Amino acid sequence: MTTDLLSHFAITSNGPHIVRSPIDGAEIGRIAYDDAKSVDAKIAHAATAFRAWRDVPAPRRGELVRLFGEELRANKDALGRLVTLEAGKILQEGLGEVQEMIDICDFAVGLSRQLYGLTIASERPGHRMMETWHPAGPVAVISAFNFPVAVWAWNAALALVCGDSVIWKPSEKTPLTALACQALFERAAKRFGDAPAHLSQVVLGLRDVGEMLAKDTRIPVVSATGSTRMGRELAPVVAARFGKTILELGGNNAMIVAPSAKLDLAVRAILFAAVGTAGQRCTTLRRLFVHDSVYDTLVPALKKAYAGLPIGDPSKPGTLVGPLIDKASFENMERALASAKSEGGIVTGGGRALADSHPNAFYAHPAIVEMPSQTPTVCHETFAPILYVMRYTDFDTALALHNAVPQGLSSCIFTLDMQEAERFIAASGSDCGIANVNIGPSGAEIGGAFGGEKETGGGRESGSDAWKAYMRRQTATINYSNALPLAQGIEFNV
Ligand code: NAD
Repeated sequence: MTTDLLSHFAITSNGPHIVRSPIDGAEIGRIAYDDAKSVDAKIAHAATAFRAWRDVPAPRRGELVRLFGEELRANKDALGRLVTLEAGKILQEGLGEVQEMIDICDFAVGLSRQLYGLTIASERPGHRMMETWHPAGPVAVISAFNFPVAVWAWNAALALVCGDSVIWKPSEKTPLTALACQALFERAAKRFGDAPAHLSQVVLGLRDVGEMLAKDTRIPVVSATGSTRMGRELAPVVAARFGKTILELGGNNAMIVAPSAKLDLAVRAILFAAVGTAGQRCTTLRRLFVHDSVYDTLVPALKKAYAGLPIGDPSKPGTLVGPLIDKASFENMERALASAKSEGGIVTGGGRALADSHPNAFYAHPAIVEMPSQTPTVCHETFAPILYVMRYTDFDTALALHNAVPQGLSSCIFTLDMQEAERFIAASGSDCGIANVNIGPSGAEIGGAFGGEKETGGGRESGSDAWKAYMRRQTATINYSNALPLAQGIEFNV
């Protein structure tokens, strides 16, 4: 299957670095990393491509993204399978990720005719003032392993219609899916006809390659998705040269299950959000606050559902929990469980699964940890399927605890009480970028702006007006009178 997929995307497996599948640890390809010289050359190419692309009318730029969306539709199955092979997501999630790429392309095509500015009333007679959005320049996209293709597409589709060129540094754990996307993009560019060369490029390597992009003054916008540690290192480097960042960092997402909640819906939402992608989504449900009155119904139901979870090869039908990305990830999970236990947590589940049949891969039993309080371990994002469960009796305390973590990505409440629902999404409610009612915290639609506050980084991607981050704003005033009135009532007679 591996060879077929690589040849489908015309990827040559060649280079000193081995890429392994988290499904069984087998080698699936070999690649070479970019060195400083080739990164420099690619940035120079991106700057040249930008200068040509910014003058192409935006609706015409949208046509390239439309063609790219067509390539994605035609190759959805193969790309979804490659995501499964390289990132270990179950096939339905691999395909779902490609669907998100298709959706953002559709969104961006419409957007290419809607990059609206403003006309603003001028205080001076015979003057017109307007605000225009211009292309920003080459955009660097640094992405994480867990959404190996969609995150790039969210950025690239918008950046391209906004008139920017794109340089993508994918996770070192998922380079093959990036090469596959590049191949599809190049097919679309060829059909488009006159797109500048090097409009979208991939640079491969470890974090040092990301650092080169962060430092380079030719790149005005760096969109970086990954851990809070990464954002903390990268943001000051970009800020030191007054570049702009779009940061999509770690989450520690929670759900409040209120007394009036529809428990059957809550259980389904919890399962998908807590164990989907083996707990390796930025929006994974990690903290669950359950009202005392429903705790002893909900938590046993959850434990029962966890006990029957199909763990296994993500490419096989019926599997719901695939592998963790690597050994380090499994060890982090073990460490977090030990530390939660030492803080009084009662652990159900956890531990390695399928070690005999998959000795070189790291499957884990998802864990439920009943905690006596929101301890330091609960406040930390462990990128694995661990769900910390806490009992509450009063809504205000639950809400305060909900917000008392450093991250602020996604959140939700299950309730039929209108006051609780409204309070949860009010100004004094959830402090997260995403707040849902009777829906789990993961699986956002591309139409809304995606991102979060606090240590999640504050960036917004995808829908709504997230496109503005890929452009520069210009205020222009035109004097069509025969006088030169000054603003602020100033008289300056010469
Ligand atoms: P990671 O931080 O290890 O790596 C992410 C990317 O950053 C990789 O491409 C890596 O090479 C690069 N990188 C690392 N250090 C860097 C530095 N100092 N300068 C420049 N580049 C650097 O993250 P990961 O393990 O691949 O992904 C998991 C993390 O990503 C989790 O914390 C998860 O919550 C987060 N994530 C967030 C979102 C979101 O939208 N908020 C989406 C997906 C993943």
